[in-house]
Amino acid sequence: MAPTAVATAEEAERLAAAAWGEEGEEEGKRGAGMKRRKRYGLVEYRALPGYLRDNEYIHRHYRCEWPLPQVLLSAFSIHNETLNVWTHLIGFFIFLALTIYTATQVPNVVDIQSLKHLPDVLRNADIHKIQAELVSCLPSLPHLSDLEKLKDELKSSWNSMEVLPSLSRWHLLELLSNCLPHRFTHTNETSLSVLQSMKDDIANMIAPELIRPIARWPFFAFLGGAMFCLLASSTCHLLSCHSRRLAYIMLRLDYAGIAALIATSFYPPVYYSFMCYPFFCNLYLSFITILGVATIAFSLLPVFQNPEFRTIRACLFFGMGASGVIPVLHKLVLFWHQPEALHTTGYEVLMGLFYGLGALVYATRVPERWMPGKFDIAGHSHQLFHILVVAGAYTHYHAGLVYLKWRDLQGC
Ligand SMILES: [Zn+2]
Repeated sequence: MAPTAVATAEEAERLAAAAWGEEGEEEGKRGAGMKRRKRYGLVEYRALPGYLRDNEYIHRHYRCEWPLPQVLLSAFSIHNETLNVWTHLIGFFIFLALTIYTATQVPNVVDIQSLKHLPDVLRNADIHKIQAELVSCLPSLPHLSDLEKLKDELKSSWNSMEVLPSLSRWHLLELLSNCLPHRFTHTNETSLSVLQSMKDDIANMIAPELIRPIARWPFFAFLGGAMFCLLASSTCHLLSCHSRRLAYIMLRLDYAGIAALIATSFYPPVYYSFMCYPFFCNLYLSFITILGVATIAFSLLPVFQNPEFRTIRACLFFGMGASGVIPVLHKLVLFWHQPEALHTTGYEVLMGLFYGLGALVYATRVPERWMPGKFDIAGHSHQLFHILVVAGAYTHYHAGLVYLKWRDLQGC
């Protein structure tokens, strides 16, 4: 964040020396063994160089221009950034776990309505085409010829087949591998009735394979954006105190992370709300993607960091987030009679409250403004802001799950 008061270089040096001197005296009393530590002691706000001055209501416990190894190790010691690092690092691990959970545990529910009709369609289909589908799923089955035997095996495994719609793609492939023998050597050995019955069975069995599950990429894009933002922020809080150069790079990374989180948060609601309206789907997705890329590009410019751009910066991020109101209202107009539309909007309102409260706390610097110096280590506004960001993103994750289920079950 932009420095509010810039000290001259000499003044900063003098104050830093004074602060270190004070700590040095104290430590000197504790013995020579502590001498190595005093160089990297924590300093007060007034001892900081201009680029590290951000919040004058936090008085003490600053790290100042420490070497990188000490900066990295400081993740495990107490200073005024410790909780800023950990609130978002823990948030990152929460979202990493949610991503793994979503990829492995959330079922790819198949559109049951369309499934009902598919066997009829396939019944009249060419058996060779079905065979081609199966072979493409199971490369170990180059020939489907011993049909009588195959049919028996399919029948015997039929009970487990009935649960197919709720099974994931991998479960289905596993079932297929188990129930189909690997050796089919002879052709032209079957009667017409066996062939017909065989077609029905295969049609029922592979139907879920032929219906594509609803795309997952918008949901994973959001999870990726959230993880990038949280990790970038955590790294920024840990490393920025090292040097002016690193602080400069880290702040840009932090801004890019915020823009990425806001932009990718649009993907699941827009994609799943408007997947049956490609024009609006593409319009909203293009709009937010272009705005996100432009914000990231703009935030990389040196001028973006100047104090006079603080308001423009805030407006840009706020405008990106607030523009989400348009697709949400549009969704309500189109699907006002569907419970999922209201359910997801409820989550989106809650998310808006978390982010809005976070922005308010961030901007007003409450509570440390009321009792300067009393919240240096724990409880200051930036930590509250971090927790509210994680809460907002977690709420959005739950909205995403509702969208996925909605589209999986209903299609367009
Ligand atoms: Zn932060």
